[in-house]
Amino acid sequence: RIGIKYDQPGLGYRQGDAQPTGFDTDVARYVADKMGVAEDKITWVQTPSANRENALENGEVDMIFATYSITDARKERVGFAGPYFVAGQDLLVRADDTSITGPESLDGKNLCSVTGSTSAQKIKDQFASGVNLVEQGGYAECVTYLESGQVDAVTTDDIILAGLAATDANQGKFKVVGNTFTTERYGVGIPKGSDTCEEINDAIAEMKESGEWEKALKANTEGTGYEYSEELNSGEAAQAEPCA
Ligand code: GLU
Repeated sequence: RIGIKYDQPGLGYRQGDAQPTGFDTDVARYVADKMGVAEDKITWVQTPSANRENALENGEVDMIFATYSITDARKERVGFAGPYFVAGQDLLVRADDTSITGPESLDGKNLCSVTGSTSAQKIKDQFASGVNLVEQGGYAECVTYLESGQVDAVTTDDIILAGLAATDANQGKFKVVGNTFTTERYGVGIPKGSDTCEEINDAIAEMKESGEWEKALKANTEGTGYEYSEELNSGEAAQAEPCA
């Protein structure tokens, strides 16, 4: 049972009972296969940002691949293998907006993010005084608010924003600002104390070495204009967490 997002094109995306698509799901399939679980034996479970710790604590899922940043606060409740990707928090604005160039230009603006995400937390911690934060259950809802003018910007990781902006329905409407202000290390969420951590880390290392990782990343971001940071994804931030 693998927890993923269902509404983040290019990362975790699923309509009905169809096979999910996206980079998170490709890494999940690769890792599961190395653990002896074929694709047809995987049960996919939707895990929105605010439900991830609960889903692991309650035993609803065995692993989570859902743009899930490794943080100390989350480590109090869950374990992490990985990271398998490093992204950065950014802003999505309407295509004709030139007033917002980074988090410092958000004063007096309405900003949408998702409940339970590091993205919303960052705004509360550092930019709360000037910004009106609106929280939703998923980023696609935030994008709807952005289009209708109810908010002026959406904030989360650059790779998520790029995928949302590039869907057929959203073509040409929005732009990613391109001024990241955090480091988000995507871990594989596992129940606290789980003994699967090393095995998952070995599988991720193998996926990177084999070229499958790069191939999956390119295929899932094609046409979005997104270019991942090679520096972040080969440097210190990409090093595996010690398994507890
Ligand atoms: N990576 C961030 C987080 O784990 C934002 C993306 C998300 O909400 O999944 O909170």
